[in-house]
Amino acid sequence: MTKIIAGNWKMNHGPKETKAFIEAFSQQLEAGPDRIMIFPPAVSLAAARAAIGDSPILLGAQNVYFEMKGAYTGEISIPMLQELGIEYCLIGHSERRHIFGEDGALLNKKLKALLEAGMTPVYCIGEQLEDREAGRTLDILKEQLETGLAGLPTINRSNFILAYEPVWAIGTGKTATPEDADETMGSIRQILSSLQVEPELPILYGGSAKPENAGALLAKTHINGLLIGNASLAPDSFRKMINWRAE
Ligand code: PEP
Repeated sequence: MTKIIAGNWKMNHGPKETKAFIEAFSQQLEAGPDRIMIFPPAVSLAAARAAIGDSPILLGAQNVYFEMKGAYTGEISIPMLQELGIEYCLIGHSERRHIFGEDGALLNKKLKALLEAGMTPVYCIGEQLEDREAGRTLDILKEQLETGLAGLPTINRSNFILAYEPVWAIGTGKTATPEDADETMGSIRQILSSLQVEPELPILYGGSAKPENAGALLAKTHINGLLIGNASLAPDSFRKMINWRAE
């Protein structure tokens, strides 16, 4: 089955490094069945678009504002992304929620605006360590899904991607076991059904995924792909994860 292998570069790789990464990475890339996506910083998107050329890399933004234009210093809009041919956008990454204080109501507006504009959100959800230790993981995920998806236009596997990223596993080197991640992601599908949402949305796992564990994670039924931070920053490591079937 097709999987999605996505690199979230966070605040790494300016335009020059982005161009160098894509040139090196594309040379080594053998077209396989999986969808490959990168999320460079906003200032590097134009360089990424130019460097991608005919290569099958899909391009996404890490963030966007829900208003179309106006007095919103520091923000970028959906039409600006569309002018660069960007089709995907991360929404609700734990760093946006917990460092920048983005709440469910704001994320819901962003999701709605992206869908209305015909873009595909990658909506990130995940519990913090204290939630997990208190046995509240599924309550937190349900709350994030209920708030985020409230009143959206119809979502389905062709216009929406979810990413399950346990916050305690992001950038920490601690990965959920493939079994734990798969079980939680199966529960996410049940929550989607209970919310009358298509349960077979693509769901990515994120949290210290790396070449050494990519194959075991991707072999699981409910794991439709990976959202990768640190291990997506070097072309060689990202390529190994793209080639997870062969590694
Ligand atoms: C992320 O930022 O989405 C992520 C999963 O980071 P890392 O792979 O570094 O844990």
